[in-house]
This record gives sequence, C-alpha cells and structure tokens, in this order.
Amino acid sequence: MAYTYDNENIFAKILRGEIPNDTVLETEHSLAFNDIRPQAPLHVLVIPKGKYVNYDDFASNASDAEILDYTRAISKVCAMKGVAADGFRMISNAGRDGVQEVPHLHVHILGGRDLGRMLN
Ligand code: IMP
Repeated sequence: MAYTYDNENIFAKILRGEIPNDTVLETEHSLAFNDIRPQAPLHVLVIPKGKYVNYDDFASNASDAEILDYTRAISKVCAMKGVAADGFRMISNAGRDGVQEVPHLHVHILGGRDLGRMLN
C-alpha cells in the first residue's frame, strides 16, 4: 500500500524546528513531547522522526533500527515519567475512523491517574 505524507503536518513542522515543542526525550530516530492539550496528568506523544503516516506505513517501510529505537523510546518515556509501575494507556489513532488529527505516526501515552475502562 502506498502512503502519501503531508510535509506540512504539525509534527513535521516540529521535527524541522519550525514550531516549538516541550521535549521529553529525543533519540536518534524518535522524539517524545508533551501533548499541547493533555487529557491526563501525563500525556506524552511519541513520534518517529521518519515520515510515516501511521503504524502500518511504519511497520511496512521503516528500517529495523527505526522500529527498535521507536519501541525503546516509548518504553523509556514510561520509565522516565514513573508510570511503568502504576500503569498507563498507549493509544494510536489511525485514519478516518480512528479520528487521526495529525497524519504523522504518533502514540499517545496517558497516565498519572486511573484512566477507567475503555473496552468492555
Ligand atoms: P490525534 O492525531 O487525534 O491522535 O491527536 C493529535 C494530538 O496532537 C492531539 O492530542 C493534540 O492535542 C496534539 N497536538 C497538536 N498540535 C500539537 C503541538 O503543537 N504540540 C503538542 N501536541 C500537539
């Protein structure tokens, strides 16, 4: 499947340094920063630096090094922010039905409170 990446999306601008962000962690292939509209005491977005629209694009087209770095960055953020032990929720919205606002792969890491049940 071919993916079309919009270079003008807000996370692309963050990665190019055109707009500021509140960085939590930066690695060779990934960037984590606080969500501008937090939905929980901890609300961090983790993105790969590469131009991937969603997880399917990433898993299909990223290098093993990028995938490993991204996976480790997510886990490091949880450890750094102290939610690894108490728990957290990781969400990735994709496409129209997932109501994805920004078309650059990102996972939301939410924690710091009881997040309630999402699925029954
Ligand atoms: P989604 O695409 O619906 O998964 O959500 C995109 C997320 O990006 C939302 O939670 C927004 O609050 C967040 N967001 C949008 N612009 C910025 C920004 O400039 N900095 C940090 N977070 C942002």
